[in-house]
Amino acid sequence: MQLRLPLDQRIVNREPRIPSPDPRIASPESRTPNSVPPAPAPALLFVRHPRARRYVIRVADDGCVRVTVPRWGSKRDAAAFAEQQRPWIEKQQRRIERRRAHARAHPLPQEIEHELRHRATRELPRRLLELAARHGVMVTRVSIRDQRSRWGSCSRSGHVCLNWRLVQLPDFVRDYVMLHELMHLRRMDHSPKFWKLVAQVCPDFEAARAYLRASC
Ligand SMILES: [Zn+2]
Repeated sequence: MQLRLPLDQRIVNREPRIPSPDPRIASPESRTPNSVPPAPAPALLFVRHPRARRYVIRVADDGCVRVTVPRWGSKRDAAAFAEQQRPWIEKQQRRIERRRAHARAHPLPQEIEHELRHRATRELPRRLLELAARHGVMVTRVSIRDQRSRWGSCSRSGHVCLNWRLVQLPDFVRDYVMLHELMHLRRMDHSPKFWKLVAQVCPDFEAARAYLRASC
């Protein structure tokens, strides 16, 4: 299932992303006639998923947009949903592009990146399993990944993927990302019930989310 983390995107077996319209971004209809013409609609990849319970949109690291279609759904409705979520999609694409531009402008020296990745494989799985044990969540596998657009993801089978860049974040933010993924193993959505679970295990999750929003 895919979660909604800034460095965050896949099918329901990473995080389910249920985008919500962002009121800060004008929709194409609200642009004035003299403003920049709307960008062409993004190319969409439709993936039918028998276990999906709703339409889910994910923007991949390369900017491609994947729409998960539940068994009962139609491609037409999925396309309509994607069109409705276009401001959100474009916002994600801009964020990915900004991050790429930043990485091009400020590459990490190779030795430093190597050391950080090494530290990540040493420290992150241990911390995740510690938190999982503390909260009684079963993790079957931990992978450390190099993802440009997400901090973490997980699948229903208990496989959690973490971005090695988590080692560069403050502890409380890193823990939040891990707890967010762990709570998805209990609930694969971003419903109020999910956030209640997160709040129970991570009382300062709002501060961590604010940190991620501000830094990405
Ligand atoms: Zn999530």
